[in-house]
Amino acid sequence: MCRYWSDVVQRLVPYIPGEQPARADPIKLNTNENPYPPSPRVIAAVARELGQLGESLRRYPDPLARRLRETVAAHHGLKPEQIFAGNGSDEVLAHTFRALLKHEKPLRFPDITYSFYPTYALLYDVCYEAIPLADDFSIRLEDYLGDAGGVLLANPNAPTGRALSLADIEQIVTANPSSVVVIDEAYVDFGAQSALSLIDHYPNLLVVQTTSKARSLAGMRVGFAFGHVLLIEALNRVKDSFNSYPLDRLAQVAAQAAYEDDDHFLSNCQHVITSRERLRQALERQGFDVVPSAANFLFVRHASFHAEALAKRLKDRDIFVRHFKLPRIDRHLRITVGTDDECDALIAALREILD
Ligand code: PMP
Repeated sequence: MCRYWSDVVQRLVPYIPGEQPARADPIKLNTNENPYPPSPRVIAAVARELGQLGESLRRYPDPLARRLRETVAAHHGLKPEQIFAGNGSDEVLAHTFRALLKHEKPLRFPDITYSFYPTYALLYDVCYEAIPLADDFSIRLEDYLGDAGGVLLANPNAPTGRALSLADIEQIVTANPSSVVVIDEAYVDFGAQSALSLIDHYPNLLVVQTTSKARSLAGMRVGFAFGHVLLIEALNRVKDSFNSYPLDRLAQVAAQAAYEDDDHFLSNCQHVITSRERLRQALERQGFDVVPSAANFLFVRHASFHAEALAKRLKDRDIFVRHFKLPRIDRHLRITVGTDDECDALIAALREILD
């Protein structure tokens, strides 16, 4: 402990986003990345932007990411003023906490959800209530229907993969007219219903998305918030006082190209969904309980084998999955859907370990 640390820093636990393997070629199913590369158009756009001598790198990027926001707006049938672009959805969420979630009443989110939410609440001095999920890990709608100091839900939720319906989200938004409801749709493209269609109707709804998962651009760090122009203006005000150039030049052109190749995006998502169902069936045959998932990962528990030991035995074989040392879920593993070959290797390794 350092005497120069503030109280908040003393209480913070550094975020470790899943182990980064030391070896070059592990089977990495622990951080929910996409198993397939981005569209070839993305590679071409980045190379073009870079130029042979990297000429464009000496110039600042567009601070407003205008071309990117126009492309994404056209893609979703929205106006660019309804979109905020940031350095990954983590940064977009951080700005959201600072700009929109500070309230006299506590912000509500589930007790099992993306671990950054309580961290941001602590960092940005936002009071919150973490509300237990139901026994089957579903979100109990009634817990979010009183007017709270804001609601933050990942849909599908992480690490469970369970999704809420659009009708449920609309009820939550309607029941919280005096605060902002944030729906974090990091994994929405793998089978859940997006709330984007609601933003024109509800000025208190903010939808957050990322290019990290379904568009295979985790390394580029590009995320978005979608909402009423006044919610977006609040994020821009905060952004300007932190980093007026949140997106670098290569990230802007890469994300733009990703939105210009819908065929690649749709077939990539479909491939992951098909592999997820195949993996689910194989795991169930091996005696795992699998929580229904609308994401690119499965949340599983084996009746007779302890999760942490299983993760360790897999790691010995260079297969990385995620175990959380947290109450209520420490018997579960979160497994990212990999390529079909990676899923087959996982199943073969589990067969050896469990036999
Ligand atoms: N929300 C959720 C629910 C996530 O799981 C993640 C990824 N770990 C993020 C947001 C952040 O994603 P990114 O910053 O890569 O956009």
